[in-house]
Amino acid sequence: MQLVARICVLLFILGFSAATDARVSAEPRYGTPGPVILITVDGVRWQEIFEGEDPARTGGKPARTARELLPNLYEMVRQGGAFAGAPGQEPMRVSGPNFVSLPGYLELFSGAEADGCSNNDCPRTTSATLLDRADARGLRTAAFASWPVVSRALSARTDANISAGLEAGSSVDPYPGLAGFRPDRLTAEQALTALMERRLDFLYVGFGETDEYAHRGDYAGYIQALRFADAFVGEVRRYLAQADASNPGWGRSAHIIVTTDHGRAADFRNHGGGAPESQRTWLAAAGPQFRGGDFSRTSEPMYLRDVRPVVEDLLGLRRRGTSDGALAAGLFATPARWGIGTGARSSRRSSAAVTSGR
Ligand SMILES: [Zn+2]
Repeated sequence: MQLVARICVLLFILGFSAATDARVSAEPRYGTPGPVILITVDGVRWQEIFEGEDPARTGGKPARTARELLPNLYEMVRQGGAFAGAPGQEPMRVSGPNFVSLPGYLELFSGAEADGCSNNDCPRTTSATLLDRADARGLRTAAFASWPVVSRALSARTDANISAGLEAGSSVDPYPGLAGFRPDRLTAEQALTALMERRLDFLYVGFGETDEYAHRGDYAGYIQALRFADAFVGEVRRYLAQADASNPGWGRSAHIIVTTDHGRAADFRNHGGGAPESQRTWLAAAGPQFRGGDFSRTSEPMYLRDVRPVVEDLLGLRRRGTSDGALAAGLFATPARWGIGTGARSSRRSSAAVTSGR
């Protein structure tokens, strides 16, 4: 809770300065006028998201339900959002075939399967990513990640506005990560500062401690890191609500998407191609363009690559990638939203694939 308290202090300071700056206004865009905030929490299983703590791993303490564990995520969904990949619904997956981080992040930001990359040693992507396209459009963007390798998936450019991992020569202890890993509390502070000071159109935040603790077999640490990410979602939402006072409509029209790069093996510690169960993931999303109602319901499985067209629609970018858009069909409240720049095929799919969101 100490970390959360630190963020609260930061929020108070920055919130005060933001409230005094009433002249800042969001520039009209083709998509939503508010910011799109994409958050990943590395290697978090669907089980904790939907079923709560694993009673076999809490050391005798009562296992918290999912709502108790993740109050901010559930409140976000309750107030106009949806989960994807819940038990009883169509699954959310990563494409793989090796369910590890860098291929997952490449899939997320390219909107396509990570062809040619099956491990965390792949070089920087060479095709324009979601971030690259938002930057080319002149949107205000920023990206922060605890794990430095994420930058290779975030942008094909080496000069993009990305802050991933610790700066060279930093004396910060990278625990629970390895050398170069930036603790999530620092990633969170920097991301919140950027969102507040720059009134971003697109913010990406990549937390990494969950996966690091899981690899160590530290379930309590994994839960603590997951709850930190949940608290961050709450802080972002509180800030957006507060920002509306000085910039009417900006915070209210924000969209938040929270997901992960891969699931976990049945043994909890590991993940990858040898553990097909680690293909399964989850997603939570909320914002005025999305249908509210607990769960996204589509007639097709959803993949991590389907996130990119959702964000592209929100930002008013023309869709790229090879996603078939099942996730967009399940999330967007108005079918007409699906298909910006892509034509009739997309519109047809959305109306056919979606059942009631509640
Ligand atoms: Zn891992």
